[in-house]
Amino acid sequence: MNDCLLLGKFSFGMGDRFSHQGKAQLRACQLATELGAEFIPVWNKSNREHTFIGTEPASLRAEADAAVKALGWTKSYHVDADHIRLETVDRFIASSDFFTIDVADSIGKPAAAADVKAFVDRHPELIGTVAIPHIAQPFTISRAEVERVANKFLLAVQDAGKIYQRIAQAKGVANFITEVSMDETDSPQTPPELLIILAALADEKIPLQTIAPKFTGRFNKGVDYVGDVKQFEKEFNDDLAVIAFAIQKYGLPPSLKLSVHSGSDKFSIYEPMRKALKKFNAGVHIKTAGTTWLEELIGLAEAGGDGLEIAKEIYAYAHEHVDEFCAPYASVIDINKAKLPDVTTVNGWSFKQFTDALRHDQKNPGYNPSFRQLLHVSFKVAAKKGDRYYAALKKHEAIIAKNVTENLFERHMKPLLLGSSEPVKTSPRPELVPA
Ligand SMILES: [Zn+2]
Repeated sequence: MNDCLLLGKFSFGMGDRFSHQGKAQLRACQLATELGAEFIPVWNKSNREHTFIGTEPASLRAEADAAVKALGWTKSYHVDADHIRLETVDRFIASSDFFTIDVADSIGKPAAAADVKAFVDRHPELIGTVAIPHIAQPFTISRAEVERVANKFLLAVQDAGKIYQRIAQAKGVANFITEVSMDETDSPQTPPELLIILAALADEKIPLQTIAPKFTGRFNKGVDYVGDVKQFEKEFNDDLAVIAFAIQKYGLPPSLKLSVHSGSDKFSIYEPMRKALKKFNAGVHIKTAGTTWLEELIGLAEAGGDGLEIAKEIYAYAHEHVDEFCAPYASVIDINKAKLPDVTTVNGWSFKQFTDALRHDQKNPGYNPSFRQLLHVSFKVAAKKGDRYYAALKKHEAIIAKNVTENLFERHMKPLLLGSSEPVKTSPRPELVPA
């Protein structure tokens, strides 16, 4: 199962909706690596994003290759077909070498009764008292519980197997990395459920290297974690213990690790995550996307003049269409409409008022998470502006790049791997990327 393309221990998923920030994003990985915190870059874009923006998967590969060449990056890098399913995978086969197989839609739909029975019969080790190193309280799992979990997840796992086989046949097993995602669903998966799911994925012979469960608490777009940090920490630790156990028990690839989706901006859980990863000597994949688009807007606003004007126009349109834009994201945003400034107010703002409200700096009294979340889900407005938006990105490349790099490096990579309090060997200012 282990002859697949290997993913590095720490990897960072970077979405770039408008394909202009590849170099600025890669620069963050370079800076982190210089400090001894190596992050392998993975550029991700989902089918939905390609459709909204009007791009093809090949354009993401071209962007990644160009950034790598421009910055002289010599380590590995990957292009992730994010949240693909059987009906959407084909257009990604040629240009991707990382596939996030999304089977959330099949969760809760029962598999064939005979398959469930066969699964439970095949895994007596999951029934009874299951002691896992580093989990203080052994799991107690009844046969009925294994059946319940199998009924809920086995069809999803079988779907993942079908999609994996299709990619493997088209690309060859050795040429790609497999992730399975279950995050876009209603209820979080508990550590015992994760164990049962991993046993089933191993049965399907999927050389899984990352798995994205839904964690406890809310992972809203572009803002901090909302939930019980202690409970998250406990489950995150238990998930790491389950993964280490499942690698041994079921022969899954030793590189298997957690993938944290909507992983940007979750500042309050980075420290518990960092401690847990250290304790287990485990790797992690952090998947981000929209945080970079928000830095584009911040950079445009900071540029002033026509840049600030575009940023304000985007907010004005978003504000008029707030219900329409928010509806598809109901489970991943929490916008307080009363806190959204009206359009006239924002049109009167200086660049600093705009960036204070938008930038994710919780210590800044001007920071407005509702404003930030609304803009997060409003990237379609920029897409509609087409060439005018792209021209502004080019014109203000330097100031945007500075914000994109600093955001990923200072606010994400450093706290995740180095710890905000730990001294760093050098303190390079993220310079502007070479043109
Ligand atoms: Zn996801």
